[in-house]
Amino acid sequence: MHDSRAVPFVCPIDHGVLEAHGDWLVCVQCAQRYPVVGGKPVLLNEANSVFRIADYTGGNAYGGASAYGTAGDGSRGLKRLYHRIVYTLSESGAGPAAPFSASDAVAAVQAADPDAQILIIGAGETSYAGNITYTDVAFGKNVRCIADAHDLPFADGSFDLVVACAVLEHVADPARCVAEMWRVLKSDGRAYAETPFLQPVHMREYDFTRFTFLGHRRLFRFFDQIEAGISSGPGMSIAFVLRTTLANSTEHRALGAVLHLAGLVLSYPLRLLDHIFTRSNGAYDSASAHYFFGQKRETAIPDRDILQFYRGA
Ligand SMILES: [Zn+2]
Repeated sequence: MHDSRAVPFVCPIDHGVLEAHGDWLVCVQCAQRYPVVGGKPVLLNEANSVFRIADYTGGNAYGGASAYGTAGDGSRGLKRLYHRIVYTLSESGAGPAAPFSASDAVAAVQAADPDAQILIIGAGETSYAGNITYTDVAFGKNVRCIADAHDLPFADGSFDLVVACAVLEHVADPARCVAEMWRVLKSDGRAYAETPFLQPVHMREYDFTRFTFLGHRRLFRFFDQIEAGISSGPGMSIAFVLRTTLANSTEHRALGAVLHLAGLVLSYPLRLLDHIFTRSNGAYDSASAHYFFGQKRETAIPDRDILQFYRGA
């Protein structure tokens, strides 16, 4: 029988039970009140977050990655055409497909248990079939609640899989966020993450950290590795730096837009070269992003033992 029960929310501060009171959820332990906006609770522990609950009730909600796609593009005419071209060029899969992706992680966990409970943090417009809970710091289509990865509003041991793609570079404290992923996972639960290594700053002030392949492995030292590798290669690293440098080389907006487009076109062949670059292990030393898929373990892998996971030239 298909089990489609949604994992209940708890207080992000103390994991207390939440009771509905009109348009609010109230913690029975600490009495903190969380507003429900358009059916989506805003479950932030403000003490640990760069976001404020009032931003979401006052119409100043963070747009996040949701504002990046074309769905929310309100522009018209030439401007709209420009946005479409830039978006298509930016997102087209010029390089080789990653050997293992978030959808592979979801499929692997659902193959073992079709009713697996899966949490997608920083979900944006992501969509999968099954028992999926989507959270983000922006109101996305499928987002069940506003949650900050530093304090997930779920009880310990709630999920079979937690996915965080292009999230851990945007959080102030990545180790804290991975500890939260670990906490909300069942004892045999799994985590999947894709995180940049060589990429310029994106999403402005909401961008804090980059990881080498080994640094990313260490971040998940409370997990046994199942799969790990390059999700985006060195060609993409060069392409991303080239187009960002060009676009940002002027304060003039219109010229910057032209240079951004020029950078995307000029750097496109570099991305194609990843079909060659990513064949060698040396690609790990200059990849644009890595992925990690692992299973929760009780103790940390000692740092000395992390070294054996190095891949590179
Ligand atoms: Zn509470």
